[in-house]
Amino acid sequence: MRGGPGWRVTTVCCRSRLAEIRDGPGRKENGPPRQDPCGPWPVQLRFPTGLTSEEYVRTTAWEQARLDRCPLHPRGGCGFCRHGTYERQEPPGARIARYYCRQGHQSFSLLPDCLAARMSSTLAEVEQVVATAQQAKSLWAAADKLRPDISLPSAVRWVSRRVAAVRVALVFVVGLAADRLVGVQPRLDEVGRALGTREVLVAVRGICAAQLQTLVAPVGFHPRRGRRSSARYRPQHKTGPDPPG
Ligand SMILES: [Zn+2]
Repeated sequence: MRGGPGWRVTTVCCRSRLAEIRDGPGRKENGPPRQDPCGPWPVQLRFPTGLTSEEYVRTTAWEQARLDRCPLHPRGGCGFCRHGTYERQEPPGARIARYYCRQGHQSFSLLPDCLAARMSSTLAEVEQVVATAQQAKSLWAAADKLRPDISLPSAVRWVSRRVAAVRVALVFVVGLAADRLVGVQPRLDEVGRALGTREVLVAVRGICAAQLQTLVAPVGFHPRRGRRSSARYRPQHKTGPDPPG
């Protein structure tokens, strides 16, 4: 599927998470409120372009991304507006459209389906890493092949993060689309065969569109496990490359 001028972003947000951002987390703790030094990390939303990363850059597709209303205040009146773009490290030349809610002090970035969330890669690159790991004799062998430029333990961690995150996404989609993926094991090759696509992770993001705020990155938009999950403690995204250099 390929979009044309005037594409609109499908705003699919987890209401509870947006409510937390809007209202703050439950105030069960005692003592003074903690400092919120810089404001929240931008909420990522899906921009379903149908483009590859090369096409996204070549056509400067971020200029066509639109968010018609504020996810926090659908009735308007909150000073919701376009807030420029920011640069991605990968692929070179890619930019991400951004909006800002003045009342909620919250920015929203519109991530195309071809790009990984919270990771400077495309989803196709992540998929290639995991496919290589599945075919290798061991995770260490895959890591040694994929990242000869860094130490082996670091390479293993690099591959492991991607394998684990993709595994979560595949288990998630097999459960979510049980009618289409009945009897399918949560492996890239099996899910890809069942869906009839080679761009498995892009397809998974589309199937899970309504759950992307709860599905972990890089397919979903939720921060990976092991990181601080509260938006209150995440640093405000600054102007510049994503992620920062
Ligand atoms: Zn708003």
